[in-house]
Amino acid sequence: MPCELCPRRCRADRASGAVGFCQAGALPRVFRWGPHFGEEPPLVGEHGSGCVFFSRCTMKCLYCQNSPWSWNGEGDDIPIARLTEILRDLAVKDCCSNWNLVSPTPYLPFIRAAAAPLFAEGIRLPFVWNSSGYETVETLTAYRDLCDIALIDMRYANDATARAASAAPGYVEANRAAIRYLHDALGPLDSDAPGAATRGVIVRILVLPGHAEEAAENLAWLAGEGFTDLHVAVMSQYTPVYKALNTPPFNRPVTEEEYSLVAEAADDFGFTRGWVQGFESSGVSNLLGEQMSPGHGIVQA
Ligand code: SF4
Repeated sequence: MPCELCPRRCRADRASGAVGFCQAGALPRVFRWGPHFGEEPPLVGEHGSGCVFFSRCTMKCLYCQNSPWSWNGEGDDIPIARLTEILRDLAVKDCCSNWNLVSPTPYLPFIRAAAAPLFAEGIRLPFVWNSSGYETVETLTAYRDLCDIALIDMRYANDATARAASAAPGYVEANRAAIRYLHDALGPLDSDAPGAATRGVIVRILVLPGHAEEAAENLAWLAGEGFTDLHVAVMSQYTPVYKALNTPPFNRPVTEEEYSLVAEAADDFGFTRGWVQGFESSGVSNLLGEQMSPGHGIVQA
């Protein structure tokens, strides 16, 4: 079937060996997996968030920290049965709080097929859909069963920036439609116990050098939609790497002034749930008194 899983709608017939923009093929390709302790506190719990880092990506971000597998495809093509065993180990052996699917979009049909035998055995964790935010409502709706918790970025408020920095045309419209859908479908974060979120939305606001006003604009948009009930994580740890090293303004860190502008906007627009990292990640202030580890966000979606 022609692939239309992401907003690019390449219509590549991947089952026949064709590939589209993301280069994902006819099997799930995984770079690594295991318990991860750097996510937001409600996702980590005692034993970590059970991350599966999928290779390939629907975006091409100049500043990607995961370029060996997102841009260059490092990892292994694995049978669906092997993905089942990975999910089983994360749940049963590692006792993780959730299955955290990092950049899952090109592989959603395989993930659903891999999880089915586990459900039949009564093994089930909440799914975290860990996404850079370039999604379609059609795909989110069709794979709603793989999205108990949305950990979703808002990276841009200007499509020209999205094109220049991530080769992602139509990002802003797609991203905002996705967040509207997720807010309606999942609502604010809900937890059984500390460190054990079961359902809801966390929006990551990535502060980019030279574009802090776009992050503030996204917070204004969320507030204007009445979404101040969502958790937001304002991310300060931008590090110029990979192609960003040669591309101003992405070739420098975020300044303290830029970061303060966004952190203050979160406050001004009335967000009371979530986290604001201390500048340079030396400490963490927060909106609600919840603590985030300084290593948060080392691996980005
Ligand atoms: S998931 Fe990949 S192949 Fe499918 S539409 Fe998106 S970029 Fe194209």
